[in-house]
Amino acid sequence: MHTASPSRVVFGAGTLPQVRDEAERLGGSRVLLLSDGSPVLRKDTERLREVLGDLVVAEFDGAAMHTPVEVTEQALDLLRDQRVDCLVAIGGGSTTGLAKALAVRTDLPQIIVPTTYAGSEVTPVLGETADGRKVTRSSPAILPNTVVYDVELTLALPIAMSVTSGINALAHAVEALYSPDADPVTDAMALEAVAAIGRALPTLHDNPSDMAARAELLQAAWLSGNCLGAVGMGLHHKLCHTLGGTFGLPHAETHTVILPHAMAYNAPAAEQTMERIAHALGAPDAPTGVFDLIRQVGGPTSLRDLGMAEADLDRAAELATAQPYPNPRELTRTGLADLLRDAWHGHRPQ
Ligand code: NAD
Repeated sequence: MHTASPSRVVFGAGTLPQVRDEAERLGGSRVLLLSDGSPVLRKDTERLREVLGDLVVAEFDGAAMHTPVEVTEQALDLLRDQRVDCLVAIGGGSTTGLAKALAVRTDLPQIIVPTTYAGSEVTPVLGETADGRKVTRSSPAILPNTVVYDVELTLALPIAMSVTSGINALAHAVEALYSPDADPVTDAMALEAVAAIGRALPTLHDNPSDMAARAELLQAAWLSGNCLGAVGMGLHHKLCHTLGGTFGLPHAETHTVILPHAMAYNAPAAEQTMERIAHALGAPDAPTGVFDLIRQVGGPTSLRDLGMAEADLDRAAELATAQPYPNPRELTRTGLADLLRDAWHGHRPQ
């Protein structure tokens, strides 16, 4: 069974000026402009404000990692005071998360202008943090109505973040391929994303402003995000959720360190999938192919370097096995503890 996503996507270079038309198309006349206030995105946010012109009635620049409920409530007060009828967000997964959190509480239409490769903009999934706990839910009201991808906005994304965010996208594609919900449509999207990420990251490592590689990577992020929105994820996403939510590790970096190890763990139970991934990457083996790609482009390879305490590894393994979920290979506490230890040391998977 496959349900196609109803979201509208504009993709290209120099598409930012189209956001006003897209807002009007959704009936928006009182826009709340959302961002994370980061100085690196200030110019792009100003350009978007100019594009939207008199449609903007309020701005909120406090989006934060893991979508804290207190932040959402502040933005909600502003939204109600200003009788906002449309949300426009520019930024990475954190800003998209805020737009989704507001939309699910108000049913307002959302337009997302992504600036990373996280892929959240095309999923109906929202992870929110309240009292230090991150809870994830899914609903059609969470799915953004319109996404405007502008490749030019990704040119300034530093190469280190491009690598980790690109591997975050790769993780969605990899786990979609061995998901029990996989179908020919998600398989095709995922394999295309794997191949594109494998080609684009080394090119960008050598030349971060290569437009064709930037376009290829952003398109891969869109495809991978669609996979994430369409099928259930497995061990890799569960582990990263635990490491980010409970141990405060950074999102995209954690995905980058864990992915080759989660793949190596699952490989004996997903041989055909791993062969397809290896083929798409042009590597002899999938888990080591991903590890070598990350090393080649200077990405992080150890949990120790991300600030994880070795003493917390067993607890992380325990938390990640506390509730059962679909995964190609049976999840055992000792198996996961070994996986995490390898990732902590930064070993190349066997
Ligand atoms: P992010 O949005 O937190 O951004 C990380 C940093 O990069 C920020 O400081 C931001 O200002 C900066 N940045 C963003 N774009 C930039 C650009 N073009 N140039 C320079 N700097 C830029 O990080 P993220 O990895 O995009 O998103 C992570 C969050 O998204 C997490 O909370 C994660 O749980 C969530 N997420 C959700 C889904 C979903 O489907 N619900 C999917 C993926 C990620």
